[in-house]
Amino acid sequence: MARYTGPSCRLCRREGAKLFLKGDRCFGGKCAFAKRPNAPGQHKQMRRKVSEYGLQLREKQKIRRVYGILEGQFRHYFDMASNKKGVTGENLLQLLECRLDNAVYRMGYGESRAQARQLVLHGHFLINGKRVDIPSYQIKAGDVITVKSSSRDIEVFKALREGASRTLPKWVELNADALEGRVVALPQRDDIDMTFDEHLVVEFYSKL
Ligand code: SF4
Repeated sequence: MARYTGPSCRLCRREGAKLFLKGDRCFGGKCAFAKRPNAPGQHKQMRRKVSEYGLQLREKQKIRRVYGILEGQFRHYFDMASNKKGVTGENLLQLLECRLDNAVYRMGYGESRAQARQLVLHGHFLINGKRVDIPSYQIKAGDVITVKSSSRDIEVFKALREGASRTLPKWVELNADALEGRVVALPQRDDIDMTFDEHLVVEFYSKL
């Protein structure tokens, strides 16, 4: 599956918010958005009034970029969310949070979603004992995500076993010694720690 391969920090500057795409670097003094919070490009100094459509578009782009998803697949998630019972915006965020690469990131296996995605693609994880290397795989409540025994000595997993700390959301648990994570429950809206206005995304697609 294709993915964006350009500079990550540029995306934060474009969206006017920290999207936390680069792991620990995002929390230190080297964050490009902290240093230059203006939009990238030639007309970065221009101040423009943003239309309602512009706000909706930017919010859609922001959410898409946080989860590292291209437009076509994002639209597919939106269609799935609208066909589910409940609030479409919340369904959308839940579908995105339930991607395997995101769940692995939330468990602390990777420093960023991009790194977690890479680890999944390289086949380092077992779900309920079976190897899964599809980043978009939808996890379920009760799933157990473990690191393959032959992958335990990879640097990022070693650091985790040696006590690298991560703050976990309440819908996942991790036994760092055993490199065994568990999905306690499906993530709910208040488990998502980023500021998203998902209703703007719903408005954006409802006009198309
Ligand atoms: Fe965004 Fe800063 Fe992280 Fe770069 S370092 S991805 S600008 S939050």
